[in-house]
Amino acid sequence: MRTPVIAGNWKMYKTAGESAAFVKEFLPLVAGVQGVEIVLSPPFPSLSIVGALTAGTNVGVASQNVHFAAEGAYTGEVSPGMVKDAGARYAIIGHSERRQYFAETDESVNRKVKAALAAGLVPIMCLGETLQERESGKTFPVVERQLRTGLAEVSAAEAPKVIVAYEPVWAIGTGKTATKEQAQEVHAFLRGILKELFGEPVALAVRILYGGSVKPENISELMAQPDIDGALVGGASLKANAFAGIVKFK
Ligand code: PEP
Repeated sequence: MRTPVIAGNWKMYKTAGESAAFVKEFLPLVAGVQGVEIVLSPPFPSLSIVGALTAGTNVGVASQNVHFAAEGAYTGEVSPGMVKDAGARYAIIGHSERRQYFAETDESVNRKVKAALAAGLVPIMCLGETLQERESGKTFPVVERQLRTGLAEVSAAEAPKVIVAYEPVWAIGTGKTATKEQAQEVHAFLRGILKELFGEPVALAVRILYGGSVKPENISELMAQPDIDGALVGGASLKANAFAGIVKFK
């Protein structure tokens, strides 16, 4: 019922030339894949080239961030309209590295989600608890706050367009994947909050991705969980073969 999404987040890796080489290697590997939304998220300077090389294919493009204003005196920032113009259809928003190193808050995430929707982009809104929060039993209140605040003032009509990515911070780039049971538990909880916020049909339509050390070896068991609708992949998305292996999880 929900089309799975497999999105690769390249973080601050790959020049424009390296990005183009990846796409040329990757496209034939996934050319026959149907029923999965495949997304690449290169750094800003590679957006246009990846956008141009993937145009008309089964691979979409995301930015790794956007500013919440349409334009203005915000040195160093990039607006939703600009990334869309460069070929992006999605925008990753509120990644834990943005929250940790660039002072992003639930409130700024909310402004960016609304700005992305207004520009016609699909927000991939990230949330997740730290190790300390998990170990002190705060996982559910933390992700509930992040979800509710991140989606504040988003209408029930707009909400189905949003993709939520549950990324426990302790599992990102650590090689330590959440177990399928741990991930499913949080995904089901998040879907329950979505139901409270927007009603059951919307809650059933929203894709909730898991992120945190996803690899070709663990994607299938994660995807077999009823509330896991895809993956946001960091490290393993940097190699065309490995990422294609994740895309072909079935
Ligand atoms: C990420 O960057 O969102 C991520 C999940 O990274 P990794 O797959 O490397 O843990």
